[in-house]
Amino acid sequence: MPLGEFGLIGRYFQRAVLQQAGDPAAVVLGIGDDAAVLQPGPDCQWVISTDSLVQGVHFPESHCPADLGYRALAVAVSDLAAMGATPQAFTLALTLPGVDEHWLQSFSDGLAQCAVDHRISLIGGDTTRGPLNIGISVFGEVPRGQALRRSGAQPGDLLCVGGPLGDGAAGLAVVLGQALPQGLGEQRDYLAARFWRPRAQCELGMALRGIATAAMDISDGLLQDAGHLARASAVALYLQADTLPGSTALQAWPPQQQREWKLRGGDDYVLLFTLPAEQHAAVDGWRQQGWPVTVIGRVEAGVGVWLDDQAVAGEGGYQHFKESADD
Ligand code: ADP
Ligand code: MG
Repeated sequence: MPLGEFGLIGRYFQRAVLQQAGDPAAVVLGIGDDAAVLQPGPDCQWVISTDSLVQGVHFPESHCPADLGYRALAVAVSDLAAMGATPQAFTLALTLPGVDEHWLQSFSDGLAQCAVDHRISLIGGDTTRGPLNIGISVFGEVPRGQALRRSGAQPGDLLCVGGPLGDGAAGLAVVLGQALPQGLGEQRDYLAARFWRPRAQCELGMALRGIATAAMDISDGLLQDAGHLARASAVALYLQADTLPGSTALQAWPPQQQREWKLRGGDDYVLLFTLPAEQHAAVDGWRQQGWPVTVIGRVEAGVGVWLDDQAVAGEGGYQHFKESADD
């Protein structure tokens, strides 16, 4: 007999590994009732974000379901990292074209792996039939008043990124099976993993509480996202092209392609943040902890994003409704 909606939820989503991936103290009531109940820590605030993944837009038609499950949750958790929040719980709104148990098992396994890696528990969701679509809402918490915003950058601050740039775009080229440079070798697997299994920078985000003046995660390309931070903070951001960090794998491509992907490629999911200049020593500390933080520029009075002293705001990067006039 085919598996019904409730059998499907019970078998693939009401699994202990998914329901208990995070701090059990945060979840008073999880899957199975009409709604979940969460308990924030003392003097904490909830940080909440929602993401949808649409086939053909956010992920290629040909994919491993486990990778898709991992990626769907990781990109959602990255928004919590950007706010400096501790991940606690998530909900899953899943629209499926049909019941394919191999697909569901694999998707659920990848989702569970990501939930364990980021210590976040599945507390509920919705399951419907239709074209494949994955909606995830994530719930994290911060001590009262300590959420990192895009709006606090000050002239004189340092501009930093939390990891290498351009791997998301190079990873997409790999997973789409595009022509690849010779000599990429095993780095191919590294890049595919960077695309399918990004690790949200939650530990770094938490470490930035009370230190960073502004923060966000880079999902649509450095220049475009830097433009959002500059506008929200009403400052100018000056970037130095020769400081932009890149992975060894990226070096298999010609320098012009590397530069383009670092500046305008999407899907990197590393943090972009500003620090008071006197916090410069913290950067070395983070690097020693294994977080490859790099200073890539500075904040000044003014507007826009500047690359090697040339104005570049708003160019490139991904936008969904780009042709509409008011963007
Ligand atoms: P309702 O009809 O009251 O909205 P549902 O029948 O849709 O409830 O869901 C029953 C329970 O299963 C709820 O606790 C809901 O949160 C959970 N649930 C449904 N779909 C999913 C899913 N894809 N992942 C996790 N939990 C789910
Ligand atoms: Mg429902």
